[in-house]
Amino acid sequence: MNLTNVVVLDLDPKNLARVARALRPFGSGILWAETVEDGLGLISEAQPFLAIVDKDMPGLTSVTAFLEETRSINSYTEVIVLAQEPELDEALDWVEQGVYTVLSRPLNPDRLRQVVGRLNERDKNNRAYPPVRGLSDDRSLVLYRNLAGHQTSGPLMESLAQTARNLTGADRSEVWAGEGFGKIDRLISGSEQMVGGYEVTLEMPWHGRSLASLKLTFSTKQALKDLDPTVLHELQWVGSLFLNQALKYEQAVTLASRDPLTGLFNRRIFLEQLDREFYQSHRHSSPLSMIILDLDHFKSINDTYGHQTGDGYLLWLAETLNSVTRGGDVTARIGGEEFAILLPRTDMEQALVLANRLKEALASNLMPEGLPDVRPTISQGLADISHFLIKSPADLVYWSDQAMYLAKRSGRDTIKTLSELPGQRKVEGTPYVFQ
Ligand code: GH3
Ligand code: MG
Ligand code: MG
Repeated sequence: MNLTNVVVLDLDPKNLARVARALRPFGSGILWAETVEDGLGLISEAQPFLAIVDKDMPGLTSVTAFLEETRSINSYTEVIVLAQEPELDEALDWVEQGVYTVLSRPLNPDRLRQVVGRLNERDKNNRAYPPVRGLSDDRSLVLYRNLAGHQTSGPLMESLAQTARNLTGADRSEVWAGEGFGKIDRLISGSEQMVGGYEVTLEMPWHGRSLASLKLTFSTKQALKDLDPTVLHELQWVGSLFLNQALKYEQAVTLASRDPLTGLFNRRIFLEQLDREFYQSHRHSSPLSMIILDLDHFKSINDTYGHQTGDGYLLWLAETLNSVTRGGDVTARIGGEEFAILLPRTDMEQALVLANRLKEALASNLMPEGLPDVRPTISQGLADISHFLIKSPADLVYWSDQAMYLAKRSGRDTIKTLSELPGQRKVEGTPYVFQ
């Protein structure tokens, strides 16, 4: 069976990630629609073998109507319904009408993988999928196979450059990413050295803007003339379809991992990174330190100048954090006015240098316009994994936090380390919580 595409109609990016995880073994391309109209459009254009629809999707009149519409577009697209707490009677009703199955939310990826695995078994030999518009069956399959299944833009663009070259016989192909995409700006397949030649450039359009451009270079004029326009058209169309998905996926991931105000990592991602770095550091016996910092008397700033001004100070602090840290450091907003910096390959001595640099920067850097003539200070607590008390990632957070409270007790606007804590004993049973 051709498991190339799945269309997901759902507003929750987390659910999209779960679907992507569940279907990774099948190499399916996940196409995400945020409106019913977009979803039906994708079903018509991408000819998915499966559509997954959230029953509470805004604009969805009824599951039955959706099923009927899907069937009238593509008779072979199966529909799976997601529902918060599906009622048995209702679910059975839908299944009787032709819904493949009903799954409860939050989606369990293993369960979805099982369901799709069964669908795959059932359909192994007896399902004929029409070719993508105008292309021969095998060429369209190559195109979809190669482009589907990449969630992020880097590998997708690489695959696009390569597939474009193979399908067109170009001597070289380049993909230039549009501005929506992170850092990748150019990927080449073929000869790096080739200069000159006969070129054709395709834009990858999506709703009036170009997501990327694809430049194909041929060494002879004849090769360019012999080019099948259908191939170009399909490259452009399937390319933009998947590029748009990658862009959406990346935006969703950013949204889910960043604090919206400051753009720093949120607490969840910070803790994930901490786990990774902690075990890496142990494996390679390399140092790892942490700074936890908290604005001093921040409540009075909010009370005096209002929350909006308070937010302005949080932004200023986040920007200062970014300006003093370097690439491998992980900066995060882990609470309201509480931040953390994880410093891989950095020992206590170097971490103290950074903490002092941060303190100085906050005391002297340029304040953004519009903020009152007040400079808040911060209290910083430091810990590093060379200390005997630190045996787990949670210990590192706990003791940095304790050191930060010592800094508060010592009068604020200061830096304290784990070894300055009196007693240095963890109170057993203290659950780790951020303040
Ligand atoms: P301390 O020096 O002991 O840390 O005093 P503090 O006033 O900073 O500490 P406290 O924990 O009493 O108050 C923290 C304040 O941070 C409370 C709240 O007004 C403010 N805060 C938390 N999150 C935000 C936010 O997102 N925006 C703004 N503007 N203020 C926030
Ligand atoms: Mg505070
Ligand atoms: Mg606080």
